[in-house]
Amino acid sequence: MSQQFERDVIIIGGGPAGSTVARYAAQGGADVLVIDGRDPIGTPLQCGELVPTNDEMRRLCPDVPDMDDLFRTPEKAISRESKKMHIVPPSGKPLIYDFDGYVLNRVAHDEFLVDIAKEAGADYLVKSRVKKVEENRVVLRNGDTYSAKIIVDAGGHNGPVRRDYWTEKSTQIPVQFVLMDGDFGEAVELHFGSMAPGGYAWMFPKNTGANIGLGIQRSFSKGVTLNKYTNEFISKYDGDITFSGAGVLPMSGTIKKFVKGNYMLVGDSAGMVLPSNGAGITIAMVGGRIAGQVICEHLKEGVPLEEYEKRWKKQMGKVMKNSKRSFKIGSLLFRMPDWILNMLFNRLTKGIIWRAVTCRKMLWIV
Ligand SMILES: Cc1cc2nc3c(=O)[nH]c(=O)nc-3n(C[C@H](O)[C@H](O)[C@H](O)COP(=O)(O)OP(=O)(O)OC[C@H]3O[C@@H](n4cnc5c(N)ncnc54)[C@H](O)[C@@H]3O)c2cc1C
Repeated sequence: MSQQFERDVIIIGGGPAGSTVARYAAQGGADVLVIDGRDPIGTPLQCGELVPTNDEMRRLCPDVPDMDDLFRTPEKAISRESKKMHIVPPSGKPLIYDFDGYVLNRVAHDEFLVDIAKEAGADYLVKSRVKKVEENRVVLRNGDTYSAKIIVDAGGHNGPVRRDYWTEKSTQIPVQFVLMDGDFGEAVELHFGSMAPGGYAWMFPKNTGANIGLGIQRSFSKGVTLNKYTNEFISKYDGDITFSGAGVLPMSGTIKKFVKGNYMLVGDSAGMVLPSNGAGITIAMVGGRIAGQVICEHLKEGVPLEEYEKRWKKQMGKVMKNSKRSFKIGSLLFRMPDWILNMLFNRLTKGIIWRAVTCRKMLWIV
């Protein structure tokens, strides 16, 4: 006799990854429970809040189908649309590119993802932190337990299933940011050089004010604290700080396997961040949709859960591979003194730099 469980699927974490799995799994008829430690989900803000528009995503990730169904960003979640990106070396003289992006109101964005997952039929349990997962049981900190056929860890870089059942490590980049009042123009800026060793700094203008922040690789920073780098970088901008936040980005790309038995990893817990530009929101949602769809096919037709890894590779394999390569090359280059970097960022290298940031082969062959 087959074992009885309370749910088809329990998803730990209702961020972009978890809520997208929930939406597509529930849409396909699965009985879904999302458990999240926060209430409301999405707060406090931990993000730079930049995403590519759907058109830009089609250019960046050409193998991902039907973007308009996946990304239905509502007006209220868009703080500003930006048409330009400045890539800025230490000299401060930017290389200017066309780029279609939204600087989000990330909290409203994540709330919307929860709403559409609930509309599809998913249930949510908030303010409930998962302590551990044992076989088919999810154990909360308060001792309550819930069981399911499939357990998805969308709990971010330190999700409990990834932490306890996977040994592979990701490079973690600590990140700090602020929201600042003021007028910061229209272009989004990415800064590279000794101001953010091994990482990068950003200034993303919002409807009013900007989201400004920075991430570093600790092995590059010679004992200088992230706090110090952040304070130095934000002191270049004028305005009152209205919010400060921090977090961690997994920056070594996806790990080898996302599925073990009836456990699945999605989003940051699987390393679904493009290391060459830090994009994690949309990429977590690409992974979330595939996972949700495969879960339904598994429950209805017995399709193996590993199909999720195959479809991910088909849709995102090339982009992730190029992004990892660019990050590795960047990590070598960014050990060089600023004066060399200033020389390397020029009219002749402008196209190569853009290809690296946007996860394409840098030299068409490499
Ligand atoms: C400072 C910062 C700036 C960033 N800027 C950008 C950016 O500008 N653009 C971009 O695309 N990406 C950015 N990212 C990356 C992006 O935020 C992540 O890649 C994205 O949020 C991943 O989604 P997720 O659903 O996997 O994880 P998360 O959004 O982290 O969601 C995980 C959820 O799981 C819950 N959770 C965790 N553990 C447990 C537990 N044990 N029990 C219950 N619930 C749990 C959490 O409460 C949370 O709601 C940034 C990240 C940081 C830290």
